[in-house]
Parts: sequence; structure tokens; C-alpha cells
Amino acid sequence: MQTIFGKSVFGGIAIGKISVYKKGEQQVKRVKVEDTQEEIERFHRAKEEAIKQLQGLYEKAVKEVGESSAAIFEIHQMMMEDEDYLDSIENIISSQQLNAEYAVATTSDNFASMFSSMDDDYMKERAADVRDVSERILSILNGESKDTVQTQEAAIIVADDLAPSETVQLDKEKVLSFVTVHGSTNSHTAILARTMGIPALIGTPVALDETVDGKMAVVDGMKGCICIEPDEETLAMYQQKKKEETEKKQLLQTLKGKENITLDGRKIMVYANIGDTKDLAMVLQNDAGGIGLFRSEFLYLEKDTYPTEEEQLKAYKTVAETMAGKRVIIRTLDIGADKQADYFELEKEENPAMGCRAIRICLTRPEIFKTQLRALFRASAYGKIAVMYPMITSIEEIRKIKTIVEEVKTELKEQGIAFGDLEQGIMIETPAAVMISDLLAKEVDFFSIGTNDLTQYTLAIDRQNPKLDEFYNPHHEAVLRMIAMTVENAHKAGIWAGICGELGADTSLTKTFLKMGVDELSVSPGNILPLRKIIRETDLSQEQ
Ligand code: PEP
Ligand code: MG
Repeated sequence: MQTIFGKSVFGGIAIGKISVYKKGEQQVKRVKVEDTQEEIERFHRAKEEAIKQLQGLYEKAVKEVGESSAAIFEIHQMMMEDEDYLDSIENIISSQQLNAEYAVATTSDNFASMFSSMDDDYMKERAADVRDVSERILSILNGESKDTVQTQEAAIIVADDLAPSETVQLDKEKVLSFVTVHGSTNSHTAILARTMGIPALIGTPVALDETVDGKMAVVDGMKGCICIEPDEETLAMYQQKKKEETEKKQLLQTLKGKENITLDGRKIMVYANIGDTKDLAMVLQNDAGGIGLFRSEFLYLEKDTYPTEEEQLKAYKTVAETMAGKRVIIRTLDIGADKQADYFELEKEENPAMGCRAIRICLTRPEIFKTQLRALFRASAYGKIAVMYPMITSIEEIRKIKTIVEEVKTELKEQGIAFGDLEQGIMIETPAAVMISDLLAKEVDFFSIGTNDLTQYTLAIDRQNPKLDEFYNPHHEAVLRMIAMTVENAHKAGIWAGICGELGADTSLTKTFLKMGVDELSVSPGNILPLRKIIRETDLSQEQ
């Protein structure tokens, strides 16, 4: 038995035979051509064919994993139309009088190494994309069909790396898991794997030859390892675990479409937390009642300049439309502290968690705030959008926000731009907000308790400092009393209160929260059904 550790991108257990996947290396020869114009046209024909193939993959992926995860194939199509990419290829053909294959391969290498050398992790990932796109064109130029991962019986696919186009072509029925030597947690392949729900490991130093091909193995997506030729005892243990996992999954599936209601009739809103529009497929698969926290920061963090109103509108509109009338709570920019974007040019601070972050940035730089608010108001014409402001500590902040909101609405009206009405709530994540929650409740439509920061500020423990993990206790009586006080004050003023911090998913506290009267729990998509199970098993009339 050989156990090799990697990094898990999706949990679960897979048991089966290994099938080693090797990409057919494209043989590229450097050949002089006479008619460079004809060669450029040959390249363009191959590129058009490649775009057609990608459109097919896009349509397949939309059906299987949802629009947002499929978007990578649209991006690949766009990459093929990228001016710099095309210029480079055409230039090599015409100025050096070389064949299209060589021009594509060289451009691919140049662009990939340029992306790999960038500091930004997201941009680094694009190196794999440009290679994937170029290989597709090369195989068309070579008159080959691009390799697909094929396996006769269901198997654990072991590969050096898998391009998104390869992962989407996997016949899900026949693939138990995939394990790659390279790849990263941020890669589209990893994201697709999570969306498809296949246990997957990356960064696993496994041999890609006959020493493993065809061998029996177990992939443990929780521990992040693959056991090749497990001994009898290990295999039996994993078979048992897998059986339990399958039963649990089936049980959870039976909860889809059911209400989040206690035995004595209390209904709870169970919503999903997302950080990207790409998470929407998981939201739908797990039957969320809405989005309780959309961390809009990703729009700012994945860019090197401020996202425009149109870019933001596109993302918010996608979420609103996908959720089709269900409530979508979008939190305004919560940048600063651990989330830094260089172009904000924030000064270095002694205590960043207590520094210029979130609403403090928005109120001191209203032009940034206004762009986001305009996009949010405009997006509310496409669904049930609610806006939520982070890191609130005072009534004055709410008043300032309201003034800016009114300015934005007036501007939109004057410009004849359509916008809907939206609910406005705040995050309760500072002890100050808890202590004046009776006053704040009169100013807003709802509260959402951010227990991650509330614990940090209540216990005076930096949530980013791993050395303090043993002291960071969100179950602390002080935190629980703060939650109870917030909910009580919300109800007195006739508004609802939910929890969107990690504590909301802690099933050991679900009954406690229900007893406090919490109206909504917003958790990561995978936690929705387990939470529904507990809620449906709870009888509040029997609880002390
Ligand atoms: C929180 O603080 O609990 C919260 C949900 O916000 P974030 O984790 O994004 O700071
Ligand atoms: Mg927070």
C-alpha cells in the first residue's frame, strides 16, 4: 500500500481503479512557408474551428455545471480573439515566413511564461488557459481531434494536470475522482471539480506510469490523499465510510424542496453565502432560499483597478436573474484589513483590523461607494436585491449612507436610468452595533450578524492570528449574549435578524439560535441541507 498526499479541492471518498491520463504531446515542426498570406488564412480557419468546438463545450458545461462555471469556455473563445495573441501569431508567420503550428506554439510559450511570471495568482492561472487554447488550435492544424479523457469503466483519473476543456469532457458516470500532480486550488479545473461534486486532489506527486495505471486505489478527499493498492483493512474501512457517506448524501437529497420548518411550525430562512458569481451552481444545487451574503469584494480583489459600474452591474444582474426572485443580499465593499487591493493605495496601519476598512472607506471615498450603489440599484430592476453595509458602529454612519443613497437615486432618476427598490440592512459585527441595536433597528430593514468579526472585536482577538486560535472562541457566552440581544432588539422594532458569519453553520448551536428567535441563517452552500435536517428535527416547544 502506498499513500500519497496532495491538496484536496473537493471532499468525499472514491474507490476504484486508476486510469492514468497522458496528454498527447503536440509535435511542432519549424517549417518555412512560401505563401505567408495563405498560411495566415489556414491559421484563421483552424481558429474558427476551435471557437466552434469551444462553443460546443460551453453548451455542454452550461447543462452540466451551470452558466457561471461554463463561462471559462467563453473566456477561452475570447482569448482566441485577443488582438495581442493574434498579432503575435500573424507576425511570426509573415515576418519569419514560418508555419502556423510553429507560430502558435511559440506565441503560446511566450504568453504562458509572461502570465506565470506575474505576481497575481489569478493571472498566473491564465498560463494554463493560454496553453489549453493554443493546443486546441494546434491539434486542428495537425488534423487531429483534441484528446479527450476516455475510460471504459468508472475510474480514478490520474493526470499531470487537466485543462478545463478536459475536465468538462469527462463522462461523469465513468469518473470517480481525479488526482493531478499539478494544478492549483484557484484553477478553473478545481472550481469545476467542486461544482461537479467529484472528490479531487491537486499537487499530488504520483507517478504517471504503469506502476499505478490500472491499480486499485482510494481517494480520500477529506484527508487529501490517495492510497494505491490499499491493504484489506484500509479498503474495508473506506468501503464502510463511503457507504455511510452515500447514505448521508441520499438522506440530504430527500430534503431538497422541503421547507426549513421546525416540528412546532417555526419557519427559518436558510440562505447561502457566496464570494463569486461562480458559486451560483452550488447555491442552486443545494436548494438555498436566497443569498444571505454576497461578498462583493471579489469584484475589486481580482482586478488591478476599480471595477466599473457596468462590470459590477453585470455581476449583480447575473446573481439576481439566476436567483429568479429569491432574495439576494449583496454586501457593499468590505476591503481593508486582511483584504487589500494595491490600487486603493491604503496606508499601512498599525492595527488594520481596527483601521480604515469597509464602510469607513466607502464613507471617506464616496465616489467609489456611489459607483457600487448605482450598480446595485440598477441591478435591482432584475430581481430581489437587498443591500447590506458592513462594519457599522453608529447611527451617524447610517445617516451618511442614507444621504449618499438618496443622491444616487436622484442622479439615476435625472438620467432616466431604470432602477428598482431595494431593502437596506446592516451587518452587526461590532460590539458597538450590538449595544445600540435598539436604535439601529429603527433605521434599517434587517440585521445580519457577522459572527466572524463580532467574535474578533468582542474577545479582542485578531481572527487572522493563528497563534490565537485557542482563544478565538465564537461559543463564548459574551458572543452568544450579543447575538441574543441583537435579535431581541430587531424583533422589538419589527425587523428580522439573521446570522451570516461562520457560526451560523455550526449545527451544535442551531437549536440555541432558533430559541433566540434568529430568523435567517446564511451559510456556505454545502451546509444548507444539513442545517435543514436539524431544523426539521427540532421541536422548540420541547426545548427549555
Ligand atoms: C463576519 O464578519 O462574520 C462576516 C460574515 O464577514 P467577513 O467574514 O467577510 O468579514
Ligand atoms: Mg465581517
